[in-house]
Amino acid sequence: MSLDAIVARPRLQRWLDLVLTTEPRQRASLVTTGWACLLMVCCVFSLELGAVAGLADPQLVRWWSLGSGACVLISFALIRSGASMGWRDPAFTHVQIAYAITSNAVAYAIADQARGITPPVLAVIMMFGVFGLRPAQIKVLMVYGLIAYGVAAALVQCWEPLGAMPVELAAMYLLIVAVVLFTSTALTLRAHAMREHLQGRKRDLSQAVEQVRELATRDELTGLPNRRHMQEMMRVEGLRAARSGQPLLMAQLDLDAFKVINDTHGHAAGDLVLQSFARLVSGCVRSADILARWGGEEFVLLMCNTSAQDGSYLLERVRSVVAATPVQLPTGATIELTVSVGAAQFLEGEELASLLERADEALYAAKRLGRNRVVWATR
Ligand code: GH3
Ligand code: MG
Ligand code: MG
Repeated sequence: MSLDAIVARPRLQRWLDLVLTTEPRQRASLVTTGWACLLMVCCVFSLELGAVAGLADPQLVRWWSLGSGACVLISFALIRSGASMGWRDPAFTHVQIAYAITSNAVAYAIADQARGITPPVLAVIMMFGVFGLRPAQIKVLMVYGLIAYGVAAALVQCWEPLGAMPVELAAMYLLIVAVVLFTSTALTLRAHAMREHLQGRKRDLSQAVEQVRELATRDELTGLPNRRHMQEMMRVEGLRAARSGQPLLMAQLDLDAFKVINDTHGHAAGDLVLQSFARLVSGCVRSADILARWGGEEFVLLMCNTSAQDGSYLLERVRSVVAATPVQLPTGATIELTVSVGAAQFLEGEELASLLERADEALYAAKRLGRNRVVWATR
């Protein structure tokens, strides 16, 4: 690509942005209408040429050119000004196609010996239906096309100045027009069905991606973030705390004698206890805190922008609420539950692994000291 071309490109882009705007929906509508304008310009040029060559009545062609051109320009102006942006279809495609069919049928009526150009143009007009028309609208437009051409053909046959032709030739034209309308409608309906199918697949795919993301980040039993997701959040919060200097606290929570619960009441009851514990603790912490299942009966709580004093108060509350809330089993049995907590405050320049290790050591201290307690890590 030459240097001139590279320099000229942004200028062209600026012009296009000016004419077509940068708002995506409006731009898409204007591009489609722009193609319709181009088609109309070609048809006007072609029929004017026919008129100059004496193949059609120049006066009728002139009126047709003015009327058709004005309608396309009005459509473009309506979209460009944003007046149609609140409408369901800002390009009012069905209206534009209906008007184009009318213009095409009128051209057939007035084009005399040049009327052979109109059926192929009709096929192109119908192709615009691919852009967002509903199947019912496409069918209505097909019927409208048949009627419009029927009226145009009848006018040609009945009104001498329009250049009557042999009935056989008129029938041939009508047959081709009917074929064009039926075929383009069938193809447009098929394109519509394929698009619906693709959109359905896209929806399914996004749902599947969302499901995979959920599975990859959530713990299935408790619904809390899982260990992998928590490690990522810890990394982010660690960086944030290091940057802002705000205090960050981490606590490891481990259910006491959980193995006994499993052994006494069964694994399913153990699962219920884990779910109940997760709910209880989630209800105690603030929305900015992050609670995750670290594995087994161990949980990690990250308290962002929290002073050691506030953290201490919060953890003590968690401990006492858990101890005071026995878990009800469906069998009617109740399980008393306690939790041991090891907590640590993020130190300046500290690695996350070291913070975790200190919280873990504090947790073991809590276990050693008799469980059902909160122990803070020393530096
Ligand atoms: P401590 O007070 O020292 O923490 O004793 P503990 O019994 O709580 O700890 P231990 O590590 O001896 O036992 C933990 C048990 O948790 C063993 C394991 O089978 C059980 N466990 C781990 N994951 C699950 C789970 O998802 N569901 C159930 N029901 N049990 C689990
Ligand atoms: Mg335990
Ligand atoms: Mg444990």
